[in-house]
Amino acid sequence: MAGSGAPYDLTVVGAGIVGLGAAAAAVECGLRVVVIDAAAEPRGASIRNFGHLGFTLQSGFARQLAQRSRARWRQLDAQAGLDLRTDGAVVVARAEDELSVLRELAAAHDDDAAIVPLGAEDVAGRTGTCGALGGVWLREDCQVSPRIAAPRIRYSLAAQGVDFRYRTTALGAESGLLHTSRGDIPAVRTVFAVNQDIDRLCPELAEQRAVRRCGLDMLRVRIRRGGHTLAPVVPTLTGWSLLRYSATAVLPATEALRQRLHAQDPPMATWDVNLMCT
Ligand SMILES: Cc1cc2nc3c(=O)[nH]c(=O)nc-3n(C[C@H](O)[C@H](O)[C@H](O)COP(=O)(O)OP(=O)(O)OC[C@H]3O[C@@H](n4cnc5c(N)ncnc54)[C@H](O)[C@@H]3O)c2cc1C
Repeated sequence: MAGSGAPYDLTVVGAGIVGLGAAAAAVECGLRVVVIDAAAEPRGASIRNFGHLGFTLQSGFARQLAQRSRARWRQLDAQAGLDLRTDGAVVVARAEDELSVLRELAAAHDDDAAIVPLGAEDVAGRTGTCGALGGVWLREDCQVSPRIAAPRIRYSLAAQGVDFRYRTTALGAESGLLHTSRGDIPAVRTVFAVNQDIDRLCPELAEQRAVRRCGLDMLRVRIRRGGHTLAPVVPTLTGWSLLRYSATAVLPATEALRQRLHAQDPPMATWDVNLMCT
């Protein structure tokens, strides 16, 4: 129950970035919100990711959502001090077929200042890489440190009256009640933001929607060249990334790139690798 004894207007299950986003939107509408999480402290994907906010290479409805999401991140940055980096990301073209995709991308968005073609020198200056033929600057992309951003959003929401309950596992919901490992919470509305654990909490729904668990990992590497450590200045995407994001995956030139990369490096294709650095 909320502090005053009145039920919460919204119960959010999961204190990852999706749950925090739902709580932020609800509190902005004046709702009384509680967020519960099974963990003692969030350690999910929202903490383990590399914080690249890739707004630009989305298409259609996803692009509209990405633009709204960008506005929300900026607002949260102003409220909670997230150290949001707004200097974009760069796609590096290391081969002619990658440049062709980027030319098509730029042509399809010639009225959109979010995609800026770069020459080889610009790419080198922005990314610290060498040998690129050219690239594009994804001007609207941003970056946060997830280990800083998520807790700061949490503190900011708590200061606005959102209650947080950790070590509290949602077990299921029925007719206005959320059952948890620490008793029931009267719940007018509930948002389940439990990521892959949706298959445990709502197995039938997960089955219906053919939810399948998958893994996503990053490598931490140190690359030394000529006595310097190579450290990309902004998130740096490659040809493999162009196969993945919806704004480039369907461009005509992408098919030839896909065929070349898959033939050149079958294990990368099998493992569905997105080669990018941050
Ligand atoms: C290695 C890696 C790198 C990534 N890099 C990026 C990136 O750079 N940019 C990007 O946009 N995306 C990235 N992603 C994806 C992004 O991190 C996720 O899509 C996002 O964090 C999912 O947020 P979430 O809130 O849905 O899930 P989570 O952060 O996993 O939060 C779910 C929460 O639900 C809680 N929970 C689960 N079940 C219950 C229950 N029954 N009761 C109560 N609580 C429960 C869990 O304890 C957890 O805290 C990356 C992901 C990974 C794994």
